[in-house]
Amino acid sequence: MNEYDSNRIYDLTSIIGYNKTYIKKEADCFVLNTCHIRKKATEKVYDEIGRVKKDFRNLNKPLVVVSGCVAQAESKEMIKREPYIDMVIGPQSYHKIGDLILDYERKKEKINETEFDVVGKFDELQKISNSQNKISSYLTIQEGCDKFCHFCVVPYTRGPEYSRPFDQIIDEAHNLVSNGAREIILLGQNVNAYNYNKKHTLSSLIRTLSNIENLKRIRFTTSHPKDMTEDLIECYRDCGKLMPFLHLPIQSGSNKILKLMNRKHDREYYMAVIEKLKKVNKNIKISSDFIVGYPGETEKDFKDTIKLVEKIGFVNSYSFIFSPRPGTPAATRKLNNLAKNGKRLKKLQNILENFQHGNNKKYLQQNCEVLIENKLVNQEKYFGRTKYMTPVIFETDDCKIGELANVKITSFNQKNLFGIYKTNKVQAA
Ligand code: SF4
Repeated sequence: MNEYDSNRIYDLTSIIGYNKTYIKKEADCFVLNTCHIRKKATEKVYDEIGRVKKDFRNLNKPLVVVSGCVAQAESKEMIKREPYIDMVIGPQSYHKIGDLILDYERKKEKINETEFDVVGKFDELQKISNSQNKISSYLTIQEGCDKFCHFCVVPYTRGPEYSRPFDQIIDEAHNLVSNGAREIILLGQNVNAYNYNKKHTLSSLIRTLSNIENLKRIRFTTSHPKDMTEDLIECYRDCGKLMPFLHLPIQSGSNKILKLMNRKHDREYYMAVIEKLKKVNKNIKISSDFIVGYPGETEKDFKDTIKLVEKIGFVNSYSFIFSPRPGTPAATRKLNNLAKNGKRLKKLQNILENFQHGNNKKYLQQNCEVLIENKLVNQEKYFGRTKYMTPVIFETDDCKIGELANVKITSFNQKNLFGIYKTNKVQAA
């Protein structure tokens, strides 16, 4: 979502005359669009500002803006901690960035803008065209969350659930496709809770988007198991453009930990959702997020997670050690032993990597469908992704970016597949 927001921030600042530069010392303004989901991400912001400070020691000080969830959570405390920051803008107020910069240029007074104005934001963003021109483009349809998982900052930094107007989304999708997008990834912190005016849900959105002629693939992320409704599951049966790959975080395989996390479902509920998905589309694959070492996690709880992972055979999953976020209920709980957490994480990651490796191996000598996203610099090689988001690098001197191609896979490693372009006539898996 930060990538989407960063692009929109660029669209907004270009209206007041700012352009992107790739030469750091030429910049008049830095916007650091931040993530607060883990402590490490937060600290990176201050490290980055330190580097800007160093680079500009003998130059005119650039304007330094911090936007995103760290800005929301830490607000004016950021300016106190690092006076080099000039402006702090929350994720629901960044549509005002142009006016705020002009204000700052006039008055030279520090600015802290952290209002929740999500309706105003999307109304404003609708007025300007989305300049993203990537083959695979993001489109935010929903923001915020009402689930309040005990470890998560999102309900505090992005606010309550908000669904963008249906027609606004369809317009933006048309705009992206006419800019060259062939895949749209619908975004939301709790994307499958999308519900506009009790009339439009994520499934109706997917069905409508499927009618856009040049749009070849649709994905959405990130979903909560409780919002995997029957109508949404049926889209995996009916909508050929919806990719058979779902990121559906469970976080832990232990019912005790799921309860402590306030996830509002148990492992049996999760398994039942997966079963329904497989019933409507046997090719579907699932990825997940896992938190290891959540306060109170015992060896038995961890083993339950391992058993679940082995049963489902997740692909492309993410796993982290629990990171206490200030202001969340879990942050007040006693932390588990760090060394034990590290060992558990390693074990889980080994198992996840083995699944990933086994999954990639299955492609060997097979033809697979790849959406071609770009050409590698100075090489006759192209980059694309399978239906399951696995990166594919392949050789050819004759293919078109944006087309769906048949690629014969000849080798692989942990993360990538490598192959040879066969044809643009797609019949492959
Ligand atoms: S559902 Fe997702 S975004 Fe919402 S509180 Fe839980 S982890 Fe955070």
